[in-house]
Amino acid sequence: KMNTDIGQHILKNPGVAQAIVDKADLKQSDIVLEVGPGTGNLTTRILEKAKRVIAVEQDPRMAAELTKRFQATPAAKRLELVLGDVIKMPELPYFDVCISNTPYQISSPLTFKLLATSPSPRSCVLMFQREFAMRLFAKPGEKLYSRLSVNAQMWAKVDHVMKVGKNNFNPPPQVESNVVRITPKNPRPQISYDEWDGLLRIAFVRKNRVLRSGFLGTSTVMEMLEANYKTFCAQNDIQLDDGPVDNAVDMDLDAGADEVEWDGIMDVDDDEEVPDFFREEADKKKLQDNPNRKRKGKVAELVRSKVKKVLEVETQLAEKRARLCDEGDFLKLLYAFNQEGIHFS
Ligand code: SAM
Repeated sequence: KMNTDIGQHILKNPGVAQAIVDKADLKQSDIVLEVGPGTGNLTTRILEKAKRVIAVEQDPRMAAELTKRFQATPAAKRLELVLGDVIKMPELPYFDVCISNTPYQISSPLTFKLLATSPSPRSCVLMFQREFAMRLFAKPGEKLYSRLSVNAQMWAKVDHVMKVGKNNFNPPPQVESNVVRITPKNPRPQISYDEWDGLLRIAFVRKNRVLRSGFLGTSTVMEMLEANYKTFCAQNDIQLDDGPVDNAVDMDLDAGADEVEWDGIMDVDDDEEVPDFFREEADKKKLQDNPNRKRKGKVAELVRSKVKKVLEVETQLAEKRARLCDEGDFLKLLYAFNQEGIHFS
């Protein structure tokens, strides 16, 4: 009996399975990473076209079934089965192409992991639930535009391959699916993935907020940037005076208290409902009411003035909302921040 809780919707239509593998344009020399092989419906077709398959499967029962299926077949020695959670693997092994009927609960982390992989794979052919696939294509200002959209479009070209109705699966999932092909840009853009994604994580904590409040108004963010700045200075032999600031009292006047818990891993897109105006007013009020506002040191003040300069002067993006910023805006921001010694990783 299948456990639907862990995303085991087995593809039962052989035509769809074959189409997915065909769309990957495999070469005889390819090493293919397959995520979640299940009972091997895709695996068997991939083995016909590629040199080697590395199949990562979390469910031991599935892994056992897969082993049984290929045991004593000539293909067995070209199949390497890795038992485990692909997301928890610290580093993916080398592969040319990734193919996956993706367990839907790992769609987002898997996509980020594939986009961060360097050297980039040649392509990834992945089945996702429809809304997730739409997020990969979303443009600035569209409802589904998110950190995922910007990242996908920054690092890759995303093509729609086909729609797959739920009845092609056993058991049928709740939602419709789409197959997409993610082709990483070649050459890979010459920026650091961690820096870029670190900036996007901050901007998209609340994608409806203006960048000013996402940065200057969120003290956890400012504290992180301050810590990074100290590291940067230490690495570059830049002396810092971190004494107390005399007139610290006015420092945070343009900041909102940070009601956002910034844990660095959020990709929250569900704040559509609360208009920013109300949120920003509430932020201001909280701040005025807070008698324990921390006295900040000189480095905090320096970092704050750098961030302000980047947002207000260098890029003039302070009043723009993340959901309206395109790739070019974020690149401009990252460049200007880095010029000031402000880093995100
Ligand atoms: N490839 C098969 C097919 O198309 O019929 C099965 C696809 S099924 C939707 C997803 C498979 O991924 C399941 O076998 C499940 O056990 C496995 N899986 C779920 N989470 C995983 C993870 N984090 N790492 C590796 N495999 C995972």
